[in-house]
Amino acid sequence: MHQSSQPEEQVSSPSENDDEKDVCEEEAPLSPMQRFRRYGLRVTDLSDQLWCEQRLAWSLARGKEETPEMKQGKARHQELHEEITEVVRVRPDSRADLWMLHFFNAWSALVQLERDGICREIPVFGQVGPFWILGIIDQMVRADEGHLVLSDTKTRKRASMPTMAQKRTTQMQMMVYHHLWTQLAQGVDASAIFTSIGLPLDAEASPAFLEQLQSHHIPTPQPLAMLKLALEAFAHAPALSPEMQISYEWQQDQSLIGVDAFSFNATWFQRKVAEARPFWEGERQPLGVLPNEGWKCRFCDFASECSVRPH
Ligand code: SF4
Repeated sequence: MHQSSQPEEQVSSPSENDDEKDVCEEEAPLSPMQRFRRYGLRVTDLSDQLWCEQRLAWSLARGKEETPEMKQGKARHQELHEEITEVVRVRPDSRADLWMLHFFNAWSALVQLERDGICREIPVFGQVGPFWILGIIDQMVRADEGHLVLSDTKTRKRASMPTMAQKRTTQMQMMVYHHLWTQLAQGVDASAIFTSIGLPLDAEASPAFLEQLQSHHIPTPQPLAMLKLALEAFAHAPALSPEMQISYEWQQDQSLIGVDAFSFNATWFQRKVAEARPFWEGERQPLGVLPNEGWKCRFCDFASECSVRPH
């Protein structure tokens, strides 16, 4: 354990959205999973799919532009993270380096959680139905009653709460995080994780990368041993509450607009994951929005060329 009274150190890693160079140049008949997500889905893939699968399909094929709102949201997350953690930037050179970094950051966040009762930007990874997913949890807090509560802060351009459909997409993200954390806490075999991420058990981090980490209290130089330490920390963490919270802040002055509190709903979550699968595996064409959700198309960049838009 770190005894320092300084903010816990965490090494800056790429976000969950740019962790792997995973776009394959080959054309159909590969499935969307084979073409675009060989190394696993991103948490936002499932939430974007919930909004509109056809829009997601176009974003995958053409690239997703980062809106000013998204940039500001990222900056706010970074600001919140740095409030409690000294962030050190390093450069991974290989996939083994990158995963070493995720394992170290997860372990380091859990050490901080045990010591301070709070941690932010925690990598979680594992299977969600048929998908392998890596996600970065925004915040975990130990409540007065002793259990853990997962929460997130979202920034809004307008000083109003989002629509139910928008809330649902963020709830989906949070449920993925909840599912992954629970799975890790229940115990996952480290070698199964290495198989899923396509690394041999004896994979080594590069010497140049380890050198960058040397002064940062890294407990072991080996990725597999680092993962095992992280898994032990997950297993010893307090129980996770099914209750979660999303705080919506107004971008302009960071004032709180409101809080969306909800519970993990296993039936709903599993149904959405099952509905998502055939698209990713190329078993059907992408679907548009439901007839009563045509209003979403007014905000869609692809509306003028969309043939599945409801009329
Ligand atoms: S226009 Fe509507 S149905 Fe078509 S991709 Fe956009 S949101 Fe989906």
